[in-house]
Amino acid sequence: MKKICMFFMALVLLQIPLLCFNHPEHRAIPDIRPYNSYQFGYCVSGKFGEPRIDKYTGEHYAHTGIDYAIPYGTSVNSTCDGRVSFAGMMRGYGLVVTIEAGEMNRNTWIPAIKGHKVEVMYCHLSKQLVLDTFIVQKNNVICRSGNSGDVPAHLHYEVRIDGKPVFPFIKENQVI
Ligand SMILES: [Zn+2]
Repeated sequence: MKKICMFFMALVLLQIPLLCFNHPEHRAIPDIRPYNSYQFGYCVSGKFGEPRIDKYTGEHYAHTGIDYAIPYGTSVNSTCDGRVSFAGMMRGYGLVVTIEAGEMNRNTWIPAIKGHKVEVMYCHLSKQLVLDTFIVQKNNVICRSGNSGDVPAHLHYEVRIDGKPVFPFIKENQVI
């Protein structure tokens, strides 16, 4: 009898990490690279917060995202579950796809962080593969990288919480 109890206890305990991993809030948190890192590696060409000078106004500012030096036309994947909140041209950013992180549950929108708006921006694209209001899942290919907005080919990846750019979080095991 004791052995059977132990067996069921073990089964229950084994489920706990699985439940945590599959929790919808986890999938809605942007925490992976926006491209195939096994193919292209680390390839960061611009860090978050580094000093920049606006080429039109000459003003100093801090870089608001991470730049990835991936080739023109590379598939870009969503880093979280969410919905497309913007897809089109944006001044200074070229062609942009913005994903609002969260999930749709029985017609109710559940944001990634309760009470806050988390947005993920993919900029300087060559092609958008999604339209406004589309629901996307983590790892879905949503666009192709490019050089729109008068820049050399790269992907500018930016995460904003309530409109303010934040340091994009990427899971440790993604680093290769
Ligand atoms: Zn950038």
